[in-house]
Amino acid sequence: MSEYIDRCQAWFQTTQAEYESVADEALMLNMHRLRWMAFVVAPLGLVLGGGYWLSTTGGPPHEVAWSHAHAWADFSMAGVMVLLGLGAHQVLKQGRATPMARVLIVLAIAWTLGITIVIATIDQLFLSDITPFLFGSITIGAVPLMRPRLALFMFLGAYGLLYYALALTQQDPVLLHIGRVTGLAAVFLSFGVSVVLWRQVSANLLRNKALRDSNAALAAKQGHPNVRVQHDGLTGLYNRWTFTRLAENELARARRYPCDTSVIMVDIDFFRKINDVHGHPAGDAVLKHVADVLSSSVRRTDVVARVGGEEFIVMLRQTPVEAAVMLAEKLRIRVQDSPTQVGGLQIPMTASFGVAGIAAGQSGTVGELYTAADSALYDAKHQGRNRVMVCAVAHQPSADTV
Ligand code: GH3
Ligand code: MG
Ligand code: MG
Repeated sequence: MSEYIDRCQAWFQTTQAEYESVADEALMLNMHRLRWMAFVVAPLGLVLGGGYWLSTTGGPPHEVAWSHAHAWADFSMAGVMVLLGLGAHQVLKQGRATPMARVLIVLAIAWTLGITIVIATIDQLFLSDITPFLFGSITIGAVPLMRPRLALFMFLGAYGLLYYALALTQQDPVLLHIGRVTGLAAVFLSFGVSVVLWRQVSANLLRNKALRDSNAALAAKQGHPNVRVQHDGLTGLYNRWTFTRLAENELARARRYPCDTSVIMVDIDFFRKINDVHGHPAGDAVLKHVADVLSSSVRRTDVVARVGGEEFIVMLRQTPVEAAVMLAEKLRIRVQDSPTQVGGLQIPMTASFGVAGIAAGQSGTVGELYTAADSALYDAKHQGRNRVMVCAVAHQPSADTV
């Protein structure tokens, strides 16, 4: 038993540490969600309230009183959601996770659970179910991001309140019991949903943060002389000099232990125009984006380098030229389908690809491979751009392998 308690504590501590590192981002996400929630819940509250208000017109006085009480609760739900939504909008306009944002989200959660408990309690005068609370609880489980500790506190608190509130209006012990059990199931389910969503979103936020940190570390390392001579300053990819060294080593290895080696040369189409239309900083962003697309689409063992202004090369170890052509086609589509985001702007671009390869057992130098890929690229440009072309390297049997 104590082992379980320790494990639970460790789990809560981990999620707490995760929470602290992504808290501000999660809070801003919550502000977006709260604004959306206000958009949806406020009109819904008005419609529901209107419906209840009118439903018992002319009926017995105690029924009219009940439906009016229900309607007032719906109207106040709508009114408060409008205020909370406006608050979230204000925070989003400031663009910062302020303490006010924290108060807003906690208020929104407490209010939604609280008002749905009030409505479910009023309903017990005439109905036996607790549907409003089920809606409220599931909404709070699925919409706002809550760290598990807060979620547990909120749902347990809400359940405690529901447990006693239902007894105020529900006189039938069996129906009271059913209402309480259903409420317990609802908070369990909602808590589960809330934890799963929190884990997913916080894992994504953490991953993005780690990526940003490693980019920052690389940027800091750019000051290091070794990194400076081996890498391209703008994209962080290898530069042409390093590419040539790595490709020479690879071809020497492929002669010793025969295997196919291919390269893909990439040149962005009409890049000069992108610079002219959007400016050089936007052009730089496009270069970085294409570099990211290329390096995230190949194997870790492949080598990606920037070899000229808007020219890149990918060396594929142990890859026949046919497979390289297929990969080049995949890269072409990815570049074409992922415009660069610069500020609020999306800059579309395409690239042309030249593929060349040296088959296992054939000899060839880096220069020959490079020239063949360049010639294929030239063909791709001349045949209309945004396409993949391939060119054979002039081979001779390798002296090392015979
Ligand atoms: P094509 O489709 O035939 O490849 O046309 P292109 O416009 O892409 O090719 P071109 O060689 O005419 O122009 C390349 C441009 O790349 C010219 C140069 O100003 C720009 N460029 C080179 N290095 C950089 C850089 O580091 N940053 C930016 N923003 N632009 C660069
Ligand atoms: Mg070029
Ligand atoms: Mg170009």
